[in-house]
Amino acid sequence: MSVSGGEAYTFKILRYDAREPEKKPLFSTYHVRLIPGLTVLTVLLRIRDELDGTLAFRSSCRAATCGSCAMIINGKPGLACRTQVATFASRTIVLEPLPNLEIIKDLVVDLTPFWTMYERVKPYLVRRSPAPEKEILQTEDDRKRIDQFVNCILCACCYGACEVLRREPDYVGPAALAKLQRFMLDSRDERGENWLETVNTSQGVWGCDTLLRCIDACPKDVRPTDGIVGLRKRLVKNRLKRVFGRDGHED
Ligand code: SF4
Repeated sequence: MSVSGGEAYTFKILRYDAREPEKKPLFSTYHVRLIPGLTVLTVLLRIRDELDGTLAFRSSCRAATCGSCAMIINGKPGLACRTQVATFASRTIVLEPLPNLEIIKDLVVDLTPFWTMYERVKPYLVRRSPAPEKEILQTEDDRKRIDQFVNCILCACCYGACEVLRREPDYVGPAALAKLQRFMLDSRDERGENWLETVNTSQGVWGCDTLLRCIDACPKDVRPTDGIVGLRKRLVKNRLKRVFGRDGHED
């Protein structure tokens, strides 16, 4: 890890192994010298290769596309692969696993609750019409409506940042709700407005405190709160239509 002429950094990494629950989580400290331009993920790979082969973390694409290296970096959720060490004023970098999820080992968390909620919103095109012979066309304007939500890489940074999930583990969560809005806005989806009733609950769209932590946490500039607020508006509009036979809100 030592590089001649590199800057001295201290990495403090939370260690825990769910197979040994009697041992409390603790931080391991690694002193390294780094050349400028390295990402947190590069350093993690080198710590594991050169200093401590027992360190556990996930990574895959190294290009902010797979979302697997999400973790807490100096107190904030982020992707290790797109976070340069030199961006921090401090020479001490603290790495912790994403909150709101059980730790399996070190920086690896059990994403089962995240994926369970994601599955609940049926994150795919629901069609009722007969399948077309070719692709289902979409105008540029229609595509623009879903642009930001399509960028989601399912890293779970927003899930880890969500304050509601700390007290309400059954809350559907920002990423899944944003994904639902992505399909509700998609001109090709035919699931219908009634489907929204599945999230018309205090653990669904009404559970969000609109603290915007998910927006701050998202490394891909998705704004999950926008999706949640959009779903709320839709529900209110549908309700007004049913009760008064008119629209109460614009989309
Ligand atoms: Fe990650 Fe952003 Fe998708 Fe949440 S909305 S899972 S933070 S990419």
